[in-house]
Amino acid sequence: MNKRISALAAILLTVALFVTLFGNFFGEPLLSFADGGKVIYLTFDDGPSDRVTPKILDVLKKEGVPATFFIVGAQAKNRKEVLKREHSEGHTLAVHSYSHKYSEIYSSPAALLKDIEKCNETICSVTGEFSHFYRFPGGSFTVSPQLLRAVAERGYISVDWNASFRDSEIKNASAEDLYCAAVATVANPKKIVMLAHDSTDKSETAAALEKVIKHFKSLGYEFKKF
Ligand SMILES: [Zn+2]
Repeated sequence: MNKRISALAAILLTVALFVTLFGNFFGEPLLSFADGGKVIYLTFDDGPSDRVTPKILDVLKKEGVPATFFIVGAQAKNRKEVLKREHSEGHTLAVHSYSHKYSEIYSSPAALLKDIEKCNETICSVTGEFSHFYRFPGGSFTVSPQLLRAVAERGYISVDWNASFRDSEIKNASAEDLYCAAVATVANPKKIVMLAHDSTDKSETAAALEKVIKHFKSLGYEFKKF
């Protein structure tokens, strides 16, 4: 091998190793010096509610862990106090939807962006800042590339999940059912984004939360928010 080719091969190998260890061009780093350990992001959709969100906040406070709330603006309108509590206790408020009506929000990119920004105004009225984080109702994998592009071009970072309490799927679930689902659905043990809901009919989610948190704490996870 001549010198030039071996130098090129060495550079390519170094780049390949660096990308493998520390990042890729399309997503977040696989490993970094800052967070070499296992991380979990608790995320709650469809709130706030008077019945369930305060219970969830109580558990998060007791366990001393942060979470991210993907809120529904129409639910939040008359529950600003609950949002203020989420914010003041160190959690992140992020955009889920204003209306959460699929037929309206997914009818066009313009309709979707209007819905997102209306929700974000509610967030800004509480936190003083607009959020950059967005969760597609139903998940990004259910929508068209056109809608994905519109949201990305507006500067939003779409956040899906890779583990779930399955609290919108299991009928009449007990807290134990939801705990088992949360533990069993982990797809990437290195970085977990856990989906749960804090809407008014999710009391069992609040009841399951402490056990879920204790489980991941016992496995050495660091709890983060977006
Ligand atoms: Zn939702």
